[in-house]
Formats: sequence, structure tokens, C-alpha cells
Amino acid sequence: MSFSSLGLSAPLLKAVAAQQYEAAYPIQREAIPAIIKGKDVFGIAQTGSGKTAGFVLPLLELFQGRKAAKNRYVKALVLVPTRELAMQVGDVFKLFGANLPQKIKTVAVFGGVSINPQMMALQGAEILVATPGRLLDLVDSKAVHLSEVEVLVLDEADKMLNLGFKEEMDKIFALLPEKRQNILFSATLGDAVDAIREKLLHDPIKIEIEAESKTPNLIKQLAYQVAAERKGPLLRYIIKQQNMQQVLIFVSSTRTADNLVEKLIKNGIEAAAMHSKKSQGARTEGLSKFKSGKLRVLVATDLASRGIDIQSLPYVINYDLPRSPKDYIHRIGRTGRAASEGEAISLICPEDSHHFKIIQKKMGKRVDIIETDTLDLKGY
Ligand code: AMP
Repeated sequence: MSFSSLGLSAPLLKAVAAQQYEAAYPIQREAIPAIIKGKDVFGIAQTGSGKTAGFVLPLLELFQGRKAAKNRYVKALVLVPTRELAMQVGDVFKLFGANLPQKIKTVAVFGGVSINPQMMALQGAEILVATPGRLLDLVDSKAVHLSEVEVLVLDEADKMLNLGFKEEMDKIFALLPEKRQNILFSATLGDAVDAIREKLLHDPIKIEIEAESKTPNLIKQLAYQVAAERKGPLLRYIIKQQNMQQVLIFVSSTRTADNLVEKLIKNGIEAAAMHSKKSQGARTEGLSKFKSGKLRVLVATDLASRGIDIQSLPYVINYDLPRSPKDYIHRIGRTGRAASEGEAISLICPEDSHHFKIIQKKMGKRVDIIETDTLDLKGY
């Protein structure tokens, strides 16, 4: 289906044509008219489905012809989990908004960089794309006000919740006016997403887009930037926060494997190590307990992991990065098998950054990196 019947005006259709999109993707076919009509929308869709244009185009359409916002009172707020996604979504707004008759300023803000340029950029902004923590800082310093927001978009809500942003999100919701349009996108369903849906959406149009069944796309990849001394606590935080019940962790040495297992057990997470210094009997026993779901965590070195073949392993964590990109791909291939979804997480220390870039380049895929400097890991 072409874009022309979705309710977009000529200037936006021209902007779409410039991108040489031949047809609207399914999510766009349904989301664009619904959003233009002012409906709340609940979209279950993954990255790659075209969901970004699915909300960017109708938002730009809605604000054509509407009165300009008061200075620093944004009219649309798009909340996203990561800095990478904030930049990406901000760029899509700029891409489609560049040649519209009525200029609409979009700004993307996120943590990990200096706040002052963002404060200045917010001058005259009408659409704000933000990660939750940095947004609250900007609200506190009165660089932006949320009381006139007409449309709220939550992008990748499940990821936002998994990253522990619930409290920040609730604070932000409390700052918004009661009457507004709400758009919620999530790749997965679950209790936490359901709670948000119930709280925010009124009589929403539900759009569900099936994930593609190609195996590589079933592996979600994610990385956390972390100081070396915070790796252990961060690992335990992730396992507990996401309530992971079956996770394979890769390390570079037998010593790290043993240390990690000891600390995990101390923290109430059942774990066993699998490496060349363990007897064959211990390895077989550990693996079979792990496979049957009786053991929550298996910590393995690359060599010992070769023979692990588990259907639908939900999580793989690279506690240490492997030396070769080939090993990286091999490791993450342990998850997302047999048409079920999996997540591969890597912990990246500053000294790993360069190496991780090379891995991504070899793989031909960019991985989102989440900053963890401000994450409170006390008690983990
Ligand atoms: P997203 O899921 O929003 O991250 O989009 C995934 C990719 O699909 C982006 O690179 C878009 O530029 C591209 N894309 C989005 N909509 C279309 C379309 N209708 N036709 C072709 N490519 C598209």
C-alpha cells in the first residue's frame, strides 16, 4: 500500500518520496491514520518494523497547522530507553521535517554528555525525544516544561522497564497534563508493559506486527558500558532486575569463572562453572542441570562451551568479550535458536571499546550501548 491514502499531506508525502520508500510497512499502514485521527495506539513491534516512521510522520502531520508552542513548553514527548535510540529517533524527525512549510523544532536529549548544550537547544523546541533520567534533570533545571504536552510516545517501553526506569517514568507521567494522546510501542508483552498500557491508554487501537522468523533477527543484542570494578555488581543487577532464570555467561579464564560462581551463589543466584579444569563428570552434571532448568546460571569459557546446544536459551551474557569476532558470533548464536527469541548482552569496559567496535563492524550490525555510570548498584 502506498503512503498516499494514509492521511498525510502533500509536503510529508514528498518527504517520504525522497526516502524512496516504495510502500508503507504494515505498522505504518495502521499507526499513521490512527495517530492522525487522535487515537491512542498500542503497537507491538520490533526494531526494523518501521515503527519510527509510523509515529514520526503522523506527529509531524498533526503539528502542521497547529499553533506554535510556548518557549520551552514542548508539545510532544518521545521517551526512549537508550542514547542511541534517542539520536536515531531525533534524526528521523529531522529527516522528514526538514522541508515542511511549518518548521517544527525537534531536540534529542540523553545522559552521558554535558547538559548545557541540551539546555540551550531546548529553546524553541516543540518535539522532545529523551531518555528518562536526563529528561528529569532538564525539568528540574527548568530547561523544559511538560505541562503542555499534547502527545506522549513511549518507544521500546519493555526495554525501558527492563533497564529499571519505572520510577523515572512514573515521575514523568505525573508532570504531564491529564488530557493528551498516548502512543505505546513495545517489542514484547508482559505484566509491566500491561500495567503501563492500562495506566496510560484510553480505548487504544492495538497493532500487532509479527516478528520476522529469520534466526539472526531473533537475537537481540545489547551492551552495557561499565567500569571494570563494577562488572560483578552490574551482572548480578541485570540477572536479578530482569529476573533471568536461564543464563549462560562467558568469561575469558577459569579463574574468573570460579570467582564469578562463588559471588553469584553468595548473592542467592544458583550457578556452576564449566571449564577445562572441571572433571568431565562435573561438567556433564552442570550442563544437564542447566539444560533442564534446575540451574539458573552456567559460567563457561569458550573452549568448554563448544558442545553446548540448548534449544531456545533466553539469555547469553559476555562478561568478558571474546578475542575474535568469530567467537562473539558463535557465543551469541547460543541464544535465539529454534525460532524463539533470545537476548545477548555484553559488558564493555573502557578498554574493550575499540575491540567491540571491530566486532560490530565484522558482524555488520550496530549494537546499542547503555551507560551505567549513574546506576545505583549498592546491594548487588
Ligand atoms: P525502524 O523499525 O523504525 O527502526 O525502521 C527500520 C528501517 O526501515 C529504517 O532504516 C527505515 O529507514 C526503514 N523503513 C521504514 N519504513 C520504510 C518503508 N516504508 N519502506 C522502506 N524502508 C523503510
